[in-house]
Amino acid sequence: MAVSGEKIVSVIPFAGFEKELDYRVPAHCAGVVGVGSLVRMPVRNRQCLGIVASLQGESGFPAARLKCLTQLVHDEPVLTAELVELARWMRDYYGASAEAILETMIPAAVRRGVKGKAEKYLSACGPIPPEELEKLQKKAPRQAALFEFLSQQIRPQKKNLVLKRTGIAVASCKALVERGWVKEEARRLDREAYRDELGAGEAVSVIPPVLNSEQQEAAEAMIGSLRKKSFQVHLLQGVTGSGKTEVYLKVLQEALAGGGGAIFLVPEVALAPQTVGRLRARLEQEGGVKTVVWHSHLSEGERFDAWTALVRGEARVVVGARSAVFAPVPNLRLIVVDEEHEPAYKQEEAPRYHGRDVAVYRSFLNNALCVLGSATPALESLRNASLGKYKVNRLSKRVDDRRLPMIHVVDMCREILSKRGALGISRPLADKMIDRFEKKEQTILFINRRGFSSSVLCPECGYVCECEHCSISLTYHRSDETVKCHLCGYRRKAPQHCPGCGSAKIRWKGFGTQRVEDAAKSLLPRARIERMDTDAMSKKNRFREILNDFRLGKIDILVGTQMIAKGLDFPNVTLVGLIDADLSLHVPDFRANERTFQLLVQVSGRSGRGDRAGEVVVQTFTPHSGTIHYARREDFDGFIEEEMEMRRQFKYPPFRHLIHHLFHGPNPEKLSFYAEQWVRLLEEKIKADIEIRGPCPAPLEKIKDRYRYQVWYFTHNVSRLVPKLQSLRSEFPWPDDLVQVLDVDAVNIS
Ligand code: ADP
Ligand code: ZN
Ligand code: ZN
Repeated sequence: MAVSGEKIVSVIPFAGFEKELDYRVPAHCAGVVGVGSLVRMPVRNRQCLGIVASLQGESGFPAARLKCLTQLVHDEPVLTAELVELARWMRDYYGASAEAILETMIPAAVRRGVKGKAEKYLSACGPIPPEELEKLQKKAPRQAALFEFLSQQIRPQKKNLVLKRTGIAVASCKALVERGWVKEEARRLDREAYRDELGAGEAVSVIPPVLNSEQQEAAEAMIGSLRKKSFQVHLLQGVTGSGKTEVYLKVLQEALAGGGGAIFLVPEVALAPQTVGRLRARLEQEGGVKTVVWHSHLSEGERFDAWTALVRGEARVVVGARSAVFAPVPNLRLIVVDEEHEPAYKQEEAPRYHGRDVAVYRSFLNNALCVLGSATPALESLRNASLGKYKVNRLSKRVDDRRLPMIHVVDMCREILSKRGALGISRPLADKMIDRFEKKEQTILFINRRGFSSSVLCPECGYVCECEHCSISLTYHRSDETVKCHLCGYRRKAPQHCPGCGSAKIRWKGFGTQRVEDAAKSLLPRARIERMDTDAMSKKNRFREILNDFRLGKIDILVGTQMIAKGLDFPNVTLVGLIDADLSLHVPDFRANERTFQLLVQVSGRSGRGDRAGEVVVQTFTPHSGTIHYARREDFDGFIEEEMEMRRQFKYPPFRHLIHHLFHGPNPEKLSFYAEQWVRLLEEKIKADIEIRGPCPAPLEKIKDRYRYQVWYFTHNVSRLVPKLQSLRSEFPWPDDLVQVLDVDAVNIS
């Protein structure tokens, strides 16, 4: 029997399925349970966690037959209504599981029910007459020692640390507190949430410069949007060194001054120590606003503290990598996405979301301003700008009027033919490296690791096997000696000899990082050379050490993958060598040109940031590539015009959305059979809204004994298509050993 006035809620369960379930709320917590509450409830025969998604007046189900919530985990909601809405949108748009999304949004400690632990702090109270202290020293020496220790401290100290360090028992401490000599108070974290080694030790300019007229204009336009308190996206397109960060800061200050909160996203926190340092120094100095730093290296406790500081309104700004887009910032007015074109914003595991796109949607839900900034915006963003969805602000000048460095292009075919450059360093690059070493200037060598060298490229004439239908490089498959297009499935026998020049060395495998490091060592035996790649990164501090040593001039030559191209600023670097531009130019990805262009611009931005002019040497087997030419002339608009045309012609993103559907399993025949059946079903059930390509083998045909197949969907309307795909997926009779992964707006397609 339904009790009238009983409260009923819909809950998103953490139970591996997507349906929201209705429950009754027990009377004793009916007043506190609301949207965003974390609850425990029975699902089938077990207890599950769930998030209250909405309050129901009446359930369609007779209320008496509904089960009751078992527990309210926290008295306060753990998500705002707006974050619950965001989670629902992500579920429908990305086809991700609600569970995976909510687990990304809510720190593990909060899910486990850990409450904000109030750390106890001790401090000594006022001066005590010396004779009193003497008495105490005789009677209770431990208490006296503790008191003396505390009176020497400037700030209150953490109780557990003090007791541990002084070896004094809790009872002695208690006696002192009761006597009124020592004050014990509960204080929340304070430091933990804001503590982090990142950004410490960076030279930070805290005095804001006077903005130049372009910066001023951009900032004013954004502040205008901010004041309207309605949703708006601004795309800030500014060449490297044009002072974008100063514009962000101006807008941030405005948002904070009005009592609002803000999120500042960077592609990778560890690579942006200067930005992080600058931001927090400036904000803390000018407005006393605390900044929380959020990244994947936070321990569970640190993440919990950061989260709590935001929820309680003790901090209003968060700087972090993509997952910071979910931070529970109160009264969110602004989200800044720096280097918005970076593929690092795409999460390559479940939930597969794009941090930039989620930032835009969250701004929409909050009637907030979203600022996307880049020297080389993504084509997706430029398209939105040209459709009038985003406002564009441009910064065309470098702040100090420095010229961009000279870009030299070296034809590696000629270098290899004349036996030079075989180890990865061409003669022109070698000469310049020697010159820099003698002048005590620094060099960075970039090695491209993107794309496994599976394209077919002739190192003697630069011929590349491409698909005529898709305009992407074909992928070499060793198992049956074929080259295949992994977009449309086109295949043919792999050439034994180069169709361009007849050479038998048609397969180019690229230079390894190690080999290039060795070549540099034998070229300059006295130089101090360090390598920075994923191996070095695995040790958290090693990475910072190398960067610090490099900044201090203890390293002459830094060899690394393109991860070191981001945001770093080394005034003494006057030479940058891009060892193998082809490995990014000819990966089987329609974004290959875009990525290469971005890389070249970024790399040139790294060189000659001081008062010395910089030089960039680009080594390539295809020196006549349009992309390299545009980058060399700094002609972003020219490049974009040509690239957009290619995308339009092939109806690639940004003209349509691209969804990747990957299947993997132990048995290749079974895999291709099910993939075929699945595609047949789609062709029958979904006619509008979709163009299907495939199934075909993935470029990496087999990983860890599991075969891989893939299907591509092109669509104009993700929100309409994905729910249909999801319901078909849930009904399709997948075999148990087959795993399938849906990736909406796939970024890494090679
Ligand atoms: P971007 O992010 O566009 O590459 P930054 O914001 O990092 O550029 O600015 C580059 C450098 O110029 C920084 O050291 C910054 O402090 C300085 N800078 C920015 N704006 C000004 C300005 N208006 N006057 C003087 N220096 C500036
Ligand atoms: Zn050839
Ligand atoms: Zn093709």
